[in-house]
Amino acid sequence: MNLSLSGKKVLITGANRGIGKAIAHLFAQQGAEIFLNGRDETALAQLKDELVATYSATVHLAIFDVADVESVKQGFRTLFAVTKSLDVLVNNAGILDDALIGMVSQAQIQQTFSANTFSVLYCSQYAARMMQRNKQGCIINMASIIGRVGNAGQAVYGGSKAAVIGITQSLAKELAAQNIRVNAIAPGFIDTDMAHSLPDDKFQQRLDSIAMGRIGSPEEVAKVALFLACDLSSYVTGQVIGVDGGMLI
Ligand code: NAP
Repeated sequence: MNLSLSGKKVLITGANRGIGKAIAHLFAQQGAEIFLNGRDETALAQLKDELVATYSATVHLAIFDVADVESVKQGFRTLFAVTKSLDVLVNNAGILDDALIGMVSQAQIQQTFSANTFSVLYCSQYAARMMQRNKQGCIINMASIIGRVGNAGQAVYGGSKAAVIGITQSLAKELAAQNIRVNAIAPGFIDTDMAHSLPDDKFQQRLDSIAMGRIGSPEEVAKVALFLACDLSSYVTGQVIGVDGGMLI
């Protein structure tokens, strides 16, 4: 059984900070060849240097906007010129833009679904084509506890993440015969810029709802992503794994 990611080629979207960055660190430590996606080339170049210096990892930049279908197409074209195979796709990029339903604008709906949901379809489509060539692969989608149980003020975000769960379960069924596993992680409240974008009262409310009494770390989400990416989970597909410290919303 191979518990490391040695020799695996991994694309991580939204890798320049938060959960994506933690996944990049852990996967590089485990020997993966990493393709760092995002829009902030300076931050990603800095992360690349960090991963190379710390783990002697092989790291590439994959600069594209996952919310834009043409940008994703061009991004995968560039990636394909570098590597003909992809073992793992982590659809991590996402945005949070809370608003009560009466206040939600059409632009918010479109931006949230483009970044959180359509991006998963766009990237999975291109990645699955690459994985199908080798008859193996693994897709990990970052959903959310809000996509499972909902929350006031989060109809758009919750809907975008519930859709990610539907996509995960459908792709798992569709791609299983080609030995491509598709799973989702549903984080609860994780210590990143996204969590800190909440107003103080909402931040405290979330903390109070966590049975373990503390916010989660991006590294704790990354460990579950590692489980899903490596052979430890070789017979796991179509699952949604909560990483939420017993959060009750
Ligand atoms: P974060 O710190 O805000 O980081 C989000 C990342 O996604 C950033 O790197 C951002 O890049 C990238 N991104 C956003 N839109 C993008 C686009 N169109 N194209 C490429 N990259 C894009 O958030 P996080 O907490 O790490 O969240 C990571 C994932 O976990 C998200 O899908 C989020 O919904 C999910 N999640 C987080 C929590 C939590 O409590 N933190 C809970 C549940 C689920 P830029 O720097 O360019 O903006």
